Amino acid sequence: MLEIRPTCENCNKDLPVESDNAMICTFECTFCANCTELLKDVCPNCGGGFEKRPIRPAHLLNKYPVSKVVVYKPVEISAHLQKINSSK
Ligand SMILES: [Zn+2]
Ligand SMILES: [Zn+2]
Repeated sequence: MLEIRPTCENCNKDLPVESDNAMICTFECTFCANCTELLKDVCPNCGGGFEKRPIRPAHLLNKYPVSKVVVYKPVEISAHLQKINSSK
């Protein structure tokens, strides 16, 4: 099941379950749309791309609650961009 994390990993902004500003990579690293733009759509943890996080229907949230685990690992954007550029 998709782990729906409560915040952006880079800027710690709240990304509630119904947010349409939340982006995830295939490993569920979670960032806000603004940060994925800064990251040039490349996940700093796995190197993969991002997709918009699907919104879990409200009536399923009791049975399948969202994650409360905050992952906060600010990315050093300039180093990240350098890494992307050097791997091209
Ligand atoms: Zn962010
Ligand atoms: Zn990732």
